[in-house]
Amino acid sequence: MDYLPVFLNVTGRTALVVGGGETANRKVEFLRRADLAVRVVAPDLEPGLAEAVAAGDIDYCQERFREGHLDGWGVVVAATNDRPVNAAVAEAAQARGVPVNVVDDPELSTFIVPAVVDRSPLVIALGTGGRAPVLARLMRAKLEAFIPAAYGRLAELVGRFRDSVKDRFRDGVARRRFWEDVLDGPIAERVLRGDTVGGERDLAELLESGEEPSDRCEVALVGAGPGDPDLLTVKALRVMQRADVVVHDRLVSPELLDRVRRDAERVFVGKAAGRHSHSQQEINELLVGLARQGKRVLRLKGGDPFVFARGGEELAHLREAGVPFHVVPGVTAALGCAAYAGIPLTHRDHAHAAVLVTGHLRDGVLELPWEALVQPYQTVAVYMGLKGLPQLRDGLIARGLSEATPAALVEQGTTPDQRVIEAPLAELPDRVEAQGARPPCLVLIGEVVGLRGSLQWVGSSAAGSGARTSAFEIDL
Ligand code: SAH
Repeated sequence: MDYLPVFLNVTGRTALVVGGGETANRKVEFLRRADLAVRVVAPDLEPGLAEAVAAGDIDYCQERFREGHLDGWGVVVAATNDRPVNAAVAEAAQARGVPVNVVDDPELSTFIVPAVVDRSPLVIALGTGGRAPVLARLMRAKLEAFIPAAYGRLAELVGRFRDSVKDRFRDGVARRRFWEDVLDGPIAERVLRGDTVGGERDLAELLESGEEPSDRCEVALVGAGPGDPDLLTVKALRVMQRADVVVHDRLVSPELLDRVRRDAERVFVGKAAGRHSHSQQEINELLVGLARQGKRVLRLKGGDPFVFARGGEELAHLREAGVPFHVVPGVTAALGCAAYAGIPLTHRDHAHAAVLVTGHLRDGVLELPWEALVQPYQTVAVYMGLKGLPQLRDGLIARGLSEATPAALVEQGTTPDQRVIEAPLAELPDRVEAQGARPPCLVLIGEVVGLRGSLQWVGSSAAGSGARTSAFEIDL
């Protein structure tokens, strides 16, 4: 972040606005929403401001700006259309250590004004570091639609009970759980429906009942999808936002981890430099141990947790240990890569089945149900097949699959670094070797790969607006 987002306590403070035009008027309106006393300095005023002065809402000083105007002011906004004047205001304010905003001029400003969603006391401030105010406003519009006005009432109610809940639960974790029960349960629902009085009564009752907050110790086994963070499911996001600790491996990219609750502890259990940093047994025990500390554990896996991911083993261990769990599926690599490469896995004319297999070598040997893989009208998706690609080709061709069968390797599918190497099966390993591919890579084999020529959309001019993640697509 190049700016520090903070909320400034302005109670009893005053704001000075230099300028008397439309822009100044907009800033005055903004400042007045925070209950600031506002004074405007300008030789003349546009009608809106003049009206506010006449109504006694703001104070007016009909002069050109000079330094003395700054004495005793808490916040300053320069909103004239004269850059030297704005610069003089900024310089004088900075010399006095008074926060100053120059409209549309982040360089001269010590603070910039965010786009705001106001559900006081719940306030959401959005900024883009002055780079894309229009984007901030678009996001605001989305949030406005998404957050009912009743959230303000809910926040107010929480505020009223804050001290008594603090007295009742000295322990911070218990306190957070209590509030989560309230805000994620029938009490909040009641308030959001409009029954604030009923919600308040229920909240008081819950607090007096002496009931302990629900123990939510559990493990959530969650699929994070193949790479593009927008392919997370809504449920995955929700669970990610609640976790106390996340246990993840390398397939889960930093972009995905960014969506996990900021203060959740992070534990990496992936392979480091080609060797397992944690054995499966260690991971199993780690999950049980963390859950028994009363934490909400997020076991985050690339793709889907039940596809070549040992999810089943981890759950069996949890069940044995009596730890509750639930599973959130994710978009598995075969689906993600196929979609982003423009290769339909099934097709009425070309493939009536799709098979997912692992191409992982055991002691240099590929053990696969070969006969099942060389059937006609079928697509084969091979996970972990990069190293054993030559053996895979040889095995399939030896059992009768045509050398000319269309095949493709999708590298880092669905990410901005996605690359697709396409070739007839016989030539694919050499082509991949020549171009040098880095894991994770998925191999797709079958007539459907030939459709890519006309269906490919990522990175092509035919791509629709959903091709690349854009902030506009984030539908909360
Ligand atoms: N549970 C995961 C698979 C884990 S096995 C899932 O459902 O997708 C790891 C293999 O998945 C990799 O070797 C690779 O073959 C494949 N894979 C995962 N993410 C991928 C991606 N973004 N692009 C290509 N292949 C990927």
